[in-house]
Amino acid sequence: MVLPVVAIVGRPNVGKSTLFNRIIKERLAIVEDEPGVTRDRNYAQAEWMGHNFDLIDTGGITWEDGKIEEEIRAQAEIAIDEADVIVMLCSVVNGVTDLDERVAQLLYRTKKPIILAINKADNPELRAEVYDFYSLGLGDPIPVSGSHGTGIGDLLDKIVSKFPRELDKKDKDTISFSVIGRPNVGKSSIVNKLLGEKRVIVANQEGTTRDAIDTPFIGKDGTKFRLIDTAGIRRRGKVYEKTEKYSVMRALSAIDRSDVALLVLDASTGIREQDKHVAGYAHDAGRGLIIVVNKWDIPKKDSGSGKDFEQVIRQEFQYLDYAPILFVSAKTGQRLDQIPEIVKEVYKNENQRIQSSVLNDLLLEASKLVPTPLVKGKRLRVYYMTQVKTNPPTFVVFVNDPELMHFSYQRFLVNQLRENFNFEGTPIKIIPRKRK
Ligand code: GDP
Ligand code: GDP
Repeated sequence: MVLPVVAIVGRPNVGKSTLFNRIIKERLAIVEDEPGVTRDRNYAQAEWMGHNFDLIDTGGITWEDGKIEEEIRAQAEIAIDEADVIVMLCSVVNGVTDLDERVAQLLYRTKKPIILAINKADNPELRAEVYDFYSLGLGDPIPVSGSHGTGIGDLLDKIVSKFPRELDKKDKDTISFSVIGRPNVGKSSIVNKLLGEKRVIVANQEGTTRDAIDTPFIGKDGTKFRLIDTAGIRRRGKVYEKTEKYSVMRALSAIDRSDVALLVLDASTGIREQDKHVAGYAHDAGRGLIIVVNKWDIPKKDSGSGKDFEQVIRQEFQYLDYAPILFVSAKTGQRLDQIPEIVKEVYKNENQRIQSSVLNDLLLEASKLVPTPLVKGKRLRVYYMTQVKTNPPTFVVFVNDPELMHFSYQRFLVNQLRENFNFEGTPIKIIPRKRK
């Protein structure tokens, strides 16, 4: 699923995070019921009139030394590199400031669509003042009020009208995957080796923003793959690369646009806190996932070391119990050739559909194995189950009372599904519904 990316930039205090929250508000309200491992407030998916997109508040990416000049430069760089549409936000209250002009100048060098929005236009008098902002040379200023919610619809209309067309139709037979992980685990080494060894990188088409950061290639057996965000991985040495918030955000946007994500860990350092953050996001995104332990050439090995490391991973990432683990070395090339095959396998698993009749046989067998739970004297009754979605496979289970279907019973059903079908690498969702 390839989503357009929208970035909000602007000097501090113009209201970027207020606008961001306003745009994602409804979606957050929906997402809030689903317990996730982590949540980030500078990056979210949003929807307007049937268009889904990723929204980034570049101002939320904080800086250790906090120099304002550096901050706005980094914001602009992120927006130029990552976004399909850039929203430059100003505040009508202060008029056009030097910093606004600085941001605008940084943005002049991109050909990407830029929309100029003027915030804090809370009333008609203030709205009339936005015309001063024509002087920035970024086109028509759109008055909005993030705190009152006015003008947001017009702004969103304008944003979605600028989405690149080709994003809408995803190439059905291409498998998109991304390589994510904290800095220095070896993501770029893996990517370069994967692409380098294939030597069949399809030339990027011109004129599409997305192709600039995704690399298509063809696997040995002719399968079409698309490696997401490789330019981002190669685009190294920029200031903003070093901030953790940014790397997490980029991982998120890459996962959202992938069918399958490879979570890279470093065998020489073991698991760190930051690995857990990235893993949590990957799990919450609900995509296929493969754990890749890189630098496997480094640790001294005896026959049990792979098993030992695997145990540690299973312990630390219990919620990722569905993800296969692959031990590789980008340095020696060990097992890298298995990556495309495993990606393909996980893709197949997350997209399979199980017929309702087969599912109901499974329910019947399951009920013979373990009786449904009795909660406060009331027994859960499971009537039937049907798969409503793929990627991730999502099953609606019709029951007498959804309250009675505790996590442990859901877990049991998921395990039954895994035992009977090959869902390796993909999360499975169960949704209990009351039968009318
Ligand atoms: P950021 O630094 O650009 O992310 O700005 P914030 O979203 O943190 O907002 C800065 C200040 O402007 C806060 O005190 C907000 O309450 C205020 N603010 C944001 N949007 C509006 C608006 O539409 N109207 C008014 N009057 N104040 C706003
Ligand atoms: P990234 O930040 O995740 O993209 O990591 P890099 O690909 O830049 O790798 C970080 C460092 O680890 C570099 O010095 C690489 O040469 C080294 N490295 C990457 N993969 C391996 C590996 O499989 N074995 C060894 N020994 N070093 C590796």
